Amino acid sequence: MPEDDTIFRAAATLHRALAGKPIVRFESMYPAVTRVHDDHPLTASHVEKVSSSGKHVLMYFANGFVLRTHMRMNGSWHIYRPGERWQRPARDMRILIATADFEAVAFSVPVAEMIKTTALAKHRPLATLGPDLLGDRFDREEAIRRLRAHPDSQVAEALLNQRIAAGIGNVYKSEVLFSCRINPFVTVAALSDEQLACLIDTGRQLLLANVTSRLAPMTTYTGFRRTTRRDDPSERLWVYGRARLPCRRCGTPIEIRKQGTDARLTYWCSQCQAS
Ligand SMILES: [Zn+2]
Repeated sequence: MPEDDTIFRAAATLHRALAGKPIVRFESMYPAVTRVHDDHPLTASHVEKVSSSGKHVLMYFANGFVLRTHMRMNGSWHIYRPGERWQRPARDMRILIATADFEAVAFSVPVAEMIKTTALAKHRPLATLGPDLLGDRFDREEAIRRLRAHPDSQVAEALLNQRIAAGIGNVYKSEVLFSCRINPFVTVAALSDEQLACLIDTGRQLLLANVTSRLAPMTTYTGFRRTTRRDDPSERLWVYGRARLPCRRCGTPIEIRKQGTDARLTYWCSQCQAS
């Protein structure tokens, strides 16, 4: 699953490419999306802005509709110059929006729908998302309160729960827990307020740092992540993807285990994160 910083950058890139320019072509493989286009043609409109909310990309059109897409595991937005060769097969194309200068293509996006802009605030699942870790008005206390409301959750699972706080994906889950030296398998109830604050604050810091550190190329999936504050890309993560390699702090081999109902991989150091 792409992390929120990747989605955020994808939205910013889409915004720069598309905003304000007349749409010259629109295609969709989703009948319900196509129907809105039939009734309220997007080719007579333009993109006003593109933003992200959690893992959702929201594309606001001047005709009063918002296109919501969710990347899930395999979806991504790409941007191409007209005529440029696509990096994924055309059969994976789900939505295409073209201006005179750019083509934005959503590949394998499993969720796409048109929502009236006026109905957006009450729209599920956006309305149920927890505070957005990348948001300008991020509500830290509310995120901590929502964590506390899940005392029996293992903390690694709670970090992935987007209704608690929107933003942390499977990579940052392990990285944040390592940074705060918290064992992924303890329950939220076992953690102090300081520990919960560490998780939330570190998650926000990592996400924000990766948004501002460099602008992504046009694909949204291979976002360069840096949690070690080192510049070598091979050194960019503390524990994620480093099973059996020595811990960067203490040398103990990093452990890996599937965790939770979705069996997401968790990486941790049994020494640094003993409890
Ligand atoms: Zn260690």
